[in-house]
Amino acid sequence: MSWRYADNNGPAKWVENFPIADGPRQSPIDIVPGEASYDAGLKPLSLKYDPSTCLDILNNGHSFQVTFVDDGDNSTLTNGPISGTYRLKQFHFHWGGSDDRGSEHTVAGTKYPAELHLVHWNTKYPNFGDAASKSDGLAVVGVFLKIGADNPNLQKVLDAFDSIKAKGKQTTFPNFDPTSLLPGSLDYWTYDGSLTTPPLLESVTWIVCKEPISVSPAQMAKFRSLLFSAEGEPECCMVDNYRPPQPLKGRPVRASFK
Ligand SMILES: [Zn+2]
Repeated sequence: MSWRYADNNGPAKWVENFPIADGPRQSPIDIVPGEASYDAGLKPLSLKYDPSTCLDILNNGHSFQVTFVDDGDNSTLTNGPISGTYRLKQFHFHWGGSDDRGSEHTVAGTKYPAELHLVHWNTKYPNFGDAASKSDGLAVVGVFLKIGADNPNLQKVLDAFDSIKAKGKQTTFPNFDPTSLLPGSLDYWTYDGSLTTPPLLESVTWIVCKEPISVSPAQMAKFRSLLFSAEGEPECCMVDNYRPPQPLKGRPVRASFK
């Protein structure tokens, strides 16, 4: 099933092939801090990542993703709003064609220029594929990027882009520690939602960090140098690969902080 982010096949059209796009717990959402309730029972996040599980980096035609070995409990997310152990599968980003847009979640309507998603799956299921359709199958940590100083930890990822410019390109990406991409504070909002790309499965416990990480204008330009298109196709820059906020439909949004 082909889907993209253009007008003729973009987020507003996904419902034609994926009716769950109009479902009760779709993502992303606009997070309104004043309407999120502080929950003293929410634990701090425990993110334990082993750089040796980092495998490769891939342009999948929608974004680029860094993939991890997930056959053991080496890189995991525990605590926070979830119970049990979730393993890191991959991380990827969404970004805009200019700095005034690009994030999927928004905060009181404010868009950030990019958003990082660290995708984990619940080890009560046998693998990522099985977990992806279960209501408690996935936990995604979202981190906003904000224009500011050059981010040296992000640079390591961006330096791999020359090898993955076109759709379908992949290269090894060993020994990267995603901990280096997390903000100083792990204060978060959490709510029950979905994948933000088809098949839009309603299986994600969202954990969105309040504090953004920095990205420089030159680094944002590098994101926009990737291509949606494969080699030999007309070049189409990878920009605006985000889904806009979806209706909350009465869901509670909880905050780990006051
Ligand atoms: Zn994402």
